[in-house]
Amino acid sequence: MAPELKLAIRLQELDTRIEELRREIVALPKQIAEIEKTLESHIRKVEADRAALQANQRDRRHLELEVQSEEQRLARLKDQTMQAKTNEQLWAFQHEIQYVENRIRQLEDRILDLMAESERLEQNLKAAEAALAQERQQVEQEKQRAREQSERDRKLLEELTRERQQVAASLPPSLYKAYERIRRLRKGWAVAEVVDGRCTACHVVLRLQFYQDLRRGEQVMFCESCGRILYYNPPESVEEMDPDETSPARRMPAGP
Ligand SMILES: [Zn+2]
Repeated sequence: MAPELKLAIRLQELDTRIEELRREIVALPKQIAEIEKTLESHIRKVEADRAALQANQRDRRHLELEVQSEEQRLARLKDQTMQAKTNEQLWAFQHEIQYVENRIRQLEDRILDLMAESERLEQNLKAAEAALAQERQQVEQEKQRAREQSERDRKLLEELTRERQQVAASLPPSLYKAYERIRRLRKGWAVAEVVDGRCTACHVVLRLQFYQDLRRGEQVMFCESCGRILYYNPPESVEEMDPDETSPARRMPAGP
């Protein structure tokens, strides 16, 4: 293979890898921002759960105070009943006592409901807090991993960029200019392999004479359809292939 063609192939490999690395370096902070956003939403959820539990406890305290004051009122009414002078007064006190007793029962029912709800809220909160603690730890690990990956990517990018400069400088200037022009035109893909007589980039079948010239690898050739620099990799040598595939005679049935 012509040495400048080998260089062009290497240059394409380097440019492809450099492009991948750049994309990865840009994508990593976005991934981190995404998981931090999810974490933030879970923190808000736990805060809302905690606030719901506090509201429940506050409501219960209010109701308990109300029960206390109703009980005091009940005690007063019972004292007053003792001092009733007429049946009408007695009847009125009893009527009010009944009313207050009903009111206390209602309040106590409401307190029981709140207690049951509070138990559920506490369990939810406990589970959410445990999940959140675990998530925080995972996010920290993920961030650390991303920082390390980013560091590795940057180092590799520097190395590859240096190698690219060397390879580009070793190419004949006219070929380098052609390479850069095709790369811009073809979205980063300037060098294509030929497999089974086709350009793997545009899939056009090569003319026979063109294909034969290309297989000799003596000169740099451009795809007549897409304009890319083409190369041909000869298949593995016969020795490395499956012997059954290469000699059908061995599979022939034995004679009588
Ligand atoms: Zn092509």
